[in-house]
Amino acid sequence: EYGDLDITINLSKPEKDPKAIAAAKNAPQAGYPKCMLCRECEGYAGRINFPARQNHRVIPVKINNTDWCFQYSPYVYYNEHCIVFNAKHMPMAINRDTFKKLLDFVGQFPHYFVGSNADLPIVGGSILSHDHFQGGNYTFAMAKAPVEYPLMFAGFEDVSAGILKWPMSVIRLSAENPCRLIELADKILVSWRGYTDESAFIYAETEGEPHNTITPIARKRGDRCELDLVLRNNITTKEHPLGVFHPHAELHHIKKENIGLIEVMGLAVLPARLKTEMAQLKCAITENRDIRDDETLAKHADWVDEIKQKYSDINENNIEEILKDEIGLVFAKVLEHAGVFKRTEDGIAAFKRFAGSVK
Ligand SMILES: [Zn+2]
Repeated sequence: EYGDLDITINLSKPEKDPKAIAAAKNAPQAGYPKCMLCRECEGYAGRINFPARQNHRVIPVKINNTDWCFQYSPYVYYNEHCIVFNAKHMPMAINRDTFKKLLDFVGQFPHYFVGSNADLPIVGGSILSHDHFQGGNYTFAMAKAPVEYPLMFAGFEDVSAGILKWPMSVIRLSAENPCRLIELADKILVSWRGYTDESAFIYAETEGEPHNTITPIARKRGDRCELDLVLRNNITTKEHPLGVFHPHAELHHIKKENIGLIEVMGLAVLPARLKTEMAQLKCAITENRDIRDDETLAKHADWVDEIKQKYSDINENNIEEILKDEIGLVFAKVLEHAGVFKRTEDGIAAFKRFAGSVK
């Protein structure tokens, strides 16, 4: 439905709990380097709880007249995966300047896309304490997704806008002049930060805690600049303690971590444990073994039952393909859960109401 989603497994990074990430945002930093993104990491030999970075090299770049650093990612999730980080250790923040910086970057590196994680826990990336972007030379499924519902913003008749055909809630803006995109994106951001729609369970804040933010992505398409604004909300409830717009418990056997920039764009970064679990599942399924009593595999049992019902013939030759397809379908659901406006009649109507409220 959403084109070809990509899947990868990070074998070197621990599966982080969204609550632990939130706690780290404000934790005092006394150490050296202050964090995994500080430029002091360049050439750092590492220590017991900090990876070695001897072969990292950092290139200074000017973005929006401020000092930033460019490096290729140690994880290489996709072609030329790069990280662009503030020369100063300061927390992630999404604001008007973020749009300026992203569009300035793609002006300088037109063959790269660049995006930022959101600046709130649960819906942000795994590092909130150091302002950074991620980019690269890769076309994600989201970049290929078409506009499904065109939008028009008063006073911005020169900017094409629309809701993307994507499981998450994305407004795409496109114009030749980046200044016009910055202007409109800022209006949308400010409106979204303060937007409440109880019928769609969108609350701008509860008990003084802000919930609304945006994951922005910029790219050049021919002569035009594009900004994708992914609307995010990090509210939690008793029923969904890790987040209402976050993969729900029934999907945690595959993905329970934050849905960050990379996932938003359609690349599932899955935890290392799945590599062994999938190998074990393959055997268990083809041998028709019950996994409900298996300590490691029991969490996949409901999913496996569904798979067994869906396919009449599962054997050693097709199990690998079936599991890959089914993980892809789970990932599509993960993204749907993270979407603030659902792709239903009511959800689309609520999305259009929000767009209409942008002044
Ligand atoms: Zn830092």
